[in-house]
Amino acid sequence: MGVVENLKRVRESLPGNITLVAVSKTKPDEMILEAYEAGQLDFGENKVQDLTAKSERLPGDIRWHMIGHLQTNKVKYLSPFVHMIHGVDSLKLLSTINKSAQQHQRCIDCLLQVRIAREETKFGLSAEEASAIVESDAFAEMKNIRIRGLMGMASYTQNTGQIRAEFQRLNLIFDEMKASAFQDADYFDQRSYGMSGDYMLAAGEGSTMVRIGSLIFGLRNY
Ligand SMILES: *Cc1c(COP(=O)(O)O)cnc(C)c1O
Repeated sequence: MGVVENLKRVRESLPGNITLVAVSKTKPDEMILEAYEAGQLDFGENKVQDLTAKSERLPGDIRWHMIGHLQTNKVKYLSPFVHMIHGVDSLKLLSTINKSAQQHQRCIDCLLQVRIAREETKFGLSAEEASAIVESDAFAEMKNIRIRGLMGMASYTQNTGQIRAEFQRLNLIFDEMKASAFQDADYFDQRSYGMSGDYMLAAGEGSTMVRIGSLIFGLRNY
């Protein structure tokens, strides 16, 4: 199956209000262009260097999503153009993004990454840490970032009940924030959950944005 057929199948399986981020990490420009020419505009990468290089070579109307772990010293490379940063996991990182966005007279959309998986290895904030960030005075001063919602990765397991429960926990955290720190913020409306293996479960649990790589572009060889 080619990229265009795969993309079409994934799109047809998704409820219409969900944004599909095509995760093109490790994949060549030609494959991204195939998807682009089939109408796909949102693409995700997890490495700053690849994201920056691809953005320079590929069409300017592509919306680039940074989905990987981001180090503060690399924010400056993304801030001129990045569409959304999914993996924000500290106040320091948020503050760096804010300052860098200010220098480029932009407001950058971000998601807080919350740790829901049982595996210890996944990045992300606890619910308490996420609340502490959005309730801090430092956060209240930041005018050049906008927290659009939450991002999370479920455990890598066949246990669909567990995956659902993890997404539901994320929904609870989302709802609590929506009712407190973001009660007047209509823009706080994004839930970035779901990958190739679990996106239908995520869609069933209210995801608004799925990040799908291998189902569209094939397996990755690292
Ligand atoms: C690689 C990656 C994806 C896509 O993974 P697939 O299983 O290939 O769909 C989604 N989200 C993040 C954060 C990733 O790093």
